Amino acid sequence: MTIKTIVPDLFNFIEQSPTPFHATSIMREKLLAHDFNELSEGEIWSLEQGKKYFVSRNGSIIAFSLGLSTSLSSGFRIIAAHTDSPCLQLKPRSRENQSPYLIVGVEKYGGAILHTWFDRELSLAGRVSCVSSTGDSRCLLVDFKRPVAFIPSLAMHLDRSVNEGLSVNVQNDLSPILAQSLDGRPLVILSMLSEQIAFEYPALQEASIIGYDLFCYDPAKPAAIGFQNEFIAAPRLDNLLSCHIGLEALYRSGDHVNGMLIYTNHEEIGSTSNSGALGSFPDVIISRILGGTEEKAICLHHSFLLSLDNAHASHPNYPDKTDGDHQILLNHGPVIKINASQRYTSNAQSSSLFRILASETGVQTQDFVMRSDMTCGSTIGPISSAQLGIQAVDVGVPTLAMHSVREVTGAADPDLMYQVIIHYFNRQMLPHFKEIQHGE
Ligand code: ZN
Repeated sequence: MTIKTIVPDLFNFIEQSPTPFHATSIMREKLLAHDFNELSEGEIWSLEQGKKYFVSRNGSIIAFSLGLSTSLSSGFRIIAAHTDSPCLQLKPRSRENQSPYLIVGVEKYGGAILHTWFDRELSLAGRVSCVSSTGDSRCLLVDFKRPVAFIPSLAMHLDRSVNEGLSVNVQNDLSPILAQSLDGRPLVILSMLSEQIAFEYPALQEASIIGYDLFCYDPAKPAAIGFQNEFIAAPRLDNLLSCHIGLEALYRSGDHVNGMLIYTNHEEIGSTSNSGALGSFPDVIISRILGGTEEKAICLHHSFLLSLDNAHASHPNYPDKTDGDHQILLNHGPVIKINASQRYTSNAQSSSLFRILASETGVQTQDFVMRSDMTCGSTIGPISSAQLGIQAVDVGVPTLAMHSVREVTGAADPDLMYQVIIHYFNRQMLPHFKEIQHGE
């Protein structure tokens, strides 16, 4: 099968998705354009085999296609990924009267590499709650798109020890500068937001802003880099890249398959929220699809969950930071993540299933394990697998500079993973490893 590269569409998706709320909004539009029906959690559902559906909640989205020539008891083929990325979130109040500059306080969202946020042109995006003069209340997505903020480094001459180990205090060092009053006019973030809302929603009546979730992001465009364009640099590759791959593959799933995407918000801060993987969202939606407990148990028993989240590539400048026997290279295929403490879900059966899928599509795989003297990260795979009781594997695209404001992967890596995921959604039956007992 010839597969066109998904990289240009990936770049567009990343550019249009500065926050999880934008990402789910863009995915909603894409799903509607591919004949998925939108469900509301507040209404009674009537689902039919052969049709496709999705439902979203607070930056998370679950989409599923019910195969025409199969039943629910045959299980779901699931991709799980997260919609959020580490960043800086604005505090409710800015320092509007303390400086000729408009400076906003931020909190760290997730495990961001903080020094990468200095000296970049930053933009703002998020959602804003408003009430109009007629009493209508709305929540609006807002994206300034252009650079409107920056966090300047302290000059070398004022801190001669800066290259001997930079420590960043989020409270003191990371407050972005948004504007300077040139005419004595007070600078207020709410008036900036009102202007932006009027620009993005010209038909909307003037409204008072009641609250916001606003985040800084780097609006620099994703780019191919390297002498032969062999790499990709972009913000939020972890984990919008996985979201994009799963979505594009689900459109192309065979009608003998029940396919599902579980994309949840708040993974970077631990997944405990009303839309996080540790919350009720996945289980509530699956219970509503499957009805009674017996039907649900049988379906989940026959289901498989592929947890898709970027993997650490070995860093050539820091070879001692990764296990020398398990070198991970960009452009060398999807990575199967393994951890004895089940920080990743992969096991002999589930990782073998993925290896077979990859080998049938001519794609090689790599195995990642953390150094035994370092703490391992995790994904929503173990949470989802534990909560739903589904067999699962953790895989991802190899990535350098994970959690930097700008991350890097191989130019071939998105397409290599995409080929395997398309096959996952189309293979007649998934490989099954029957357990043989002693004496059988
Ligand atoms: Zn991730």
